[in-house]
Amino acid sequence: MPARTSHSADHKNRGETSETSTVHAAAASAIIISARGAQRLKNGHVWVYRSDILSADGVTPGAVVRVKDPRGRQLGSALYSSSSQIAVRMISNGVVENFPALLRERIREAIAYRQDFVRNTNAYRVIFSEGDFLPGLIVDRYNEILSVQILTQAMDAEPVRAAVLAELTERVQPASIAERVEPHIRELEQLPARASGLLLGTKTSTIISMHGVQLHYDAGTGQKTGAFLDQRENYAAAAQYAHGEALDIFCYQGGFALHLARHCSKVIGVDSSRPALEVADRNAALNKLEIEWMEANAFDLLRDYSASGRQYDTIVLDPPAFAKNRKTLETALRGYKELNLRALKMLRAGGTLVTCSCSYHVSEKEFLEVISEAASDSRRTLRLLEIRGQAKDHPTVLSIPETGYLKCLILHVS
Ligand code: SAH
Repeated sequence: MPARTSHSADHKNRGETSETSTVHAAAASAIIISARGAQRLKNGHVWVYRSDILSADGVTPGAVVRVKDPRGRQLGSALYSSSSQIAVRMISNGVVENFPALLRERIREAIAYRQDFVRNTNAYRVIFSEGDFLPGLIVDRYNEILSVQILTQAMDAEPVRAAVLAELTERVQPASIAERVEPHIRELEQLPARASGLLLGTKTSTIISMHGVQLHYDAGTGQKTGAFLDQRENYAAAAQYAHGEALDIFCYQGGFALHLARHCSKVIGVDSSRPALEVADRNAALNKLEIEWMEANAFDLLRDYSASGRQYDTIVLDPPAFAKNRKTLETALRGYKELNLRALKMLRAGGTLVTCSCSYHVSEKEFLEVISEAASDSRRTLRLLEIRGQAKDHPTVLSIPETGYLKCLILHVS
């Protein structure tokens, strides 16, 4: 296990480091931001919105820039995007002369953090963008395959890509590295189209394991075919309380259902995606588990099942993000309420509800309120067993609220 570098998390966004940055003036161009933007950075955030840019003369797309406040005071160094509303993403409070070297150091720190906190799995997020002070870069490990996503102009620059690949190859020694391209993100960043594919090696599929459960992974296509690694720790937590007859609604490839099956007499997984259910079925076979998979619209199925009086002991609700932005919040909250209300009507006394929201725009407080309303409407009493978030390999930095998005409540129902 490589030793941790000397830079604490607190340093990452703050001081310069001897290896990668100096106090000497660098050739980087400068951006001036408004007092409001500067205040945001002082509070520990790393983004500056385009509306807070006062001048960015001569700055090229994806450049490493120096950031100054209106009085000309240096605030640090950042990556610039010429097209995103998030125009500036800070990478250091100092002057960065050699960005690829800084990047390689941050990757080592991210790997060391996982070595400290990730347990019982060979599938986890190695790099979580702003959560690791590597804005625009996401890397997931699926056993011996790494999956890389590059989300910004700066991270797409050739020397930057080369540094990322070199450091990952050296430290993780993967059999292959696959790039997953989200075409609409490249469009938004005004980057040339690019196909998903392998950047290293030839291996595209493998078997991952978590808490003794095995799952197929296939990097072979451009769609999201990975697992929802952010829920990994919640699978194990949910399994502790699961019992009797269980429903896993929005089951995808069966993450919750597979973990529940060892503790329940019967498990049904429901999803509207047939390809996801096909993998779920192969996953059940891999683990020699009997799980029933149903292709259905969750809203229709819950309406029918609750109307016909079906009862369960454990229900998991893990819908896709309903609120894509603040404007759709009200509709999203109605959606969460309806799902949870129906699920609560179907739970036997002493039952367990595991209910999730991955919408960043729905706060934990709002989510708790909605679940509480659903409880009073269905005349049930809910006792909070656990309030959980995303797995620790998707770190939430307190000064960057956008790094935290997943809510997972485990409730006792009576
Ligand atoms: N619980 C899963 C992740 C769920 S992601 C896991 O831990 O792996 C959300 C899932 O909801 C996706 O698989 C998607 O296919 C499914 N989905 C989206 N809308 C749906 C609907 N109306 N009815 C049923 N499933 C839906």
